Amino acid sequence: MISLFNLCLFLFCSTSSISAFDVRVLLDKFIFFDTKKIECVFSSQHGMEIAGIEQPIHGSVKISCTDQEFIVNGVILKDDTLVITPTLPSNYEKKIHQFITQWLKNEHDFCQNQLKGLTNFYEKFVNDRNFRDYAPLYQVMQQCIDACIFKFIEPVEHPAITYESLAKLAQQQLGLQLKVLLTTAINDKKASKSLLEQIKTSEKIRTDFFVKILDQILADFLIDYFVGLPHKIIHQAMRDETGCLIFDKNKYLGTFYLIRDKNAILLINSLDIDDYLLSVVHYEGWPGWPMEVNKVLVVASRTYLVDKVLRANKSKQLYHIVNSNKHQTYKGYHKFTQLKQAVDETRNVFIAYKGEPIVAMFDSCCGGVIPAKISAGYDYKNHPYLARTKPCAHCKRYPIYDWKKEFSRLELTEALRKEYPDLQEIIDIKITKKDEAGLVKQVFITTKKGSFPVSGKKLYSLFPSIKSFCYIIKKKGRGFVFHGRGYGHHMGLCQWGSFGMVEDNWNYKNILEFYYPGTEFMKLSLSR
Ligand SMILES: [Zn+2]
Repeated sequence: MISLFNLCLFLFCSTSSISAFDVRVLLDKFIFFDTKKIECVFSSQHGMEIAGIEQPIHGSVKISCTDQEFIVNGVILKDDTLVITPTLPSNYEKKIHQFITQWLKNEHDFCQNQLKGLTNFYEKFVNDRNFRDYAPLYQVMQQCIDACIFKFIEPVEHPAITYESLAKLAQQQLGLQLKVLLTTAINDKKASKSLLEQIKTSEKIRTDFFVKILDQILADFLIDYFVGLPHKIIHQAMRDETGCLIFDKNKYLGTFYLIRDKNAILLINSLDIDDYLLSVVHYEGWPGWPMEVNKVLVVASRTYLVDKVLRANKSKQLYHIVNSNKHQTYKGYHKFTQLKQAVDETRNVFIAYKGEPIVAMFDSCCGGVIPAKISAGYDYKNHPYLARTKPCAHCKRYPIYDWKKEFSRLELTEALRKEYPDLQEIIDIKITKKDEAGLVKQVFITTKKGSFPVSGKKLYSLFPSIKSFCYIIKKKGRGFVFHGRGYGHHMGLCQWGSFGMVEDNWNYKNILEFYYPGTEFMKLSLSR
């Protein structure tokens, strides 16, 4: 079953092209080391299909596990991988019909133009009632239907599915259906003598007569063709959540895999890269931000992802990226479809250095800290674009730039006891080491029973209200006040800075070039 994941990702430095892929996201809250503890419950509006079980399952599915088997609603499946996909509802064809009718209405002029090549055929039909040679007609129709299909799939184009593969599918269906559709349509329209007379004499009536027949053929054909497309293209076209799987209160597009990996069982959601990014930009960003800021975030997130994917492929890891803030927050489907514009308008763009995706770190607010001066920064030698020397002054005007937090002695002591259980009450806390950038490297903690150093990193991890590494500590009465700047690790892209830059009319490319100096833009290729 693992071969399902056998997707290739090529890196061509010279052509700036990495092929597109589906994202495999590990839900890190659900890594099961003890198989007895597994109990996953999935549901979907219209049921789901599970590989190894013949009929689609309706209602919810409860999955448990032994060392060798998966147990799905009581049915035992002996396998290392369980694949769960949502089923589309039975009335979906009706919805697709409506969708296509609307599309034909909107694209009426385009379709009419495509049908113009049929004039010769009309003439023959009118002048020679015994004319039965439909072969040239099939050819012309085939061309015109091809053109309509290309136009039709344009808005639902998916990077992993090429025009070529769709055209092939269309050709197969054309060969089978066109003749039947055409003869049926003409027979159904049995023209009366008077109508035939009008067809003969009026070009307009003649064209209307044939165009109506051909419209119907086109609609019938597109409906059949569309039903045969992969689920995810249909989802994109219909833009709804019908095909989501519901798990742990969130809705997810794509497929779920439960996979045995050494001593654990992993839960992985595999989905379209654009759907993944649409989720991340919502959960990593701030609601209501201008579109250009969201574009910045999408490109940074896409870059971060591509880097992770290449690393995962190199180490033959079963998943690409983790769904928590350890990597990028991903919580599945949401209804903020306006963010789709940011994904669409930057489609496939990522940031590269020397032909490879950069490590696109970002935080909420940099607080004006200069990354090049951070002593324990990233590997600047190999990633010089993270060592920005120009300060970001664009986040300064927003409230997030400064923070202040008061702690009583008791509050400080109690929080530190998570790490040092026997700690006596704290009497004093002082910063003893800062780096050139102004980030706290070490503090000294004094209790009644002596003093000891704590690293800045440790303190940051123990206190969620210490929002960054750049702060001073002042005594206030029997407690302490922390005054700080920034929100996060101060590296890479500053989200609030980007917001400020967009307000000052910067575009997303210039913003990214500012935060990751010396980098270039590359694109994921559409071919596989
Ligand atoms: Zn900033």
